[in-house]
Amino acid sequence: MKCLICNSDSEFLTRKNYEGDFKILLEQNTYMKCPQCGFSFSKTIQEMSDLEWEELNFGFHKLLESQKFTDDINQPPYIHQANLINILSKLGLIDLQHSLDYAGGHGTLTKILRNYYGSDLPVYDPYVQDDNSNSLHYIEEIKGKKFKFINCSALFEHIRSESDLDEIASLVDEDGVLMIHTVICENIPADPNWFYFVPPVHSAFFTNKSMDIWMEKWNFSASVYCKDAKSWLLFKKDSEALQNSIKEVNSLLQSQFLIHKKGFVDYWKGF
Ligand SMILES: [Zn+2]
Repeated sequence: MKCLICNSDSEFLTRKNYEGDFKILLEQNTYMKCPQCGFSFSKTIQEMSDLEWEELNFGFHKLLESQKFTDDINQPPYIHQANLINILSKLGLIDLQHSLDYAGGHGTLTKILRNYYGSDLPVYDPYVQDDNSNSLHYIEEIKGKKFKFINCSALFEHIRSESDLDEIASLVDEDGVLMIHTVICENIPADPNWFYFVPPVHSAFFTNKSMDIWMEKWNFSASVYCKDAKSWLLFKKDSEALQNSIKEVNSLLQSQFLIHKKGFVDYWKGF
């Protein structure tokens, strides 16, 4: 099977056999790895029909709701993400007037921004909407639209095809910013017990090199990493003003709150 990022032939990485409740959902996941860019993926999930994939996700979320696995599943660091978005907006580095929380589900981040920061982040999610969605700003149709700021949290690890990624990137305006939260590291280990292989619905695993290639494909020139929010911001346009703003924030906070780099910030090199 071909790598979704660089189109090289992939190789077998490892296989995970599930136990207990997970095994009822899925017997095993076979993971493949690209020898060129390191991007890894579940062959099992890529080969599923859309219906099988939907059923796996439905079953997995039902298990989560039963709260059996709350200790094992890391939720996104919402308050840190909201804080980051607020600071970037105040600095004029992102434009919340033309923004979107892509696959934002129940709108948790939007509610935090609204309740504690007084700003709005419209939500798009074709699959999940909050029961009380009247109070949230849902966008129903996004085809052909462009946004200045898109948040895409905990989604990259669930993509199954190149077109899933292309759809997200194609929504970002030519001077826009894409914020992503997922695990991105130097190397995906051939270890079935690796923490990111635990949820059977994780299908895609990005490396620093694969992100560099993907950014180039979609004309993102620089990125910024915030370790508190465990999130990257991919900027279409780099500028001196952007770099100076980051220096000012770090100086005021007396910490490396934001890290800037041309290309992708390869913060996690441990593996
Ligand atoms: Zn590749």
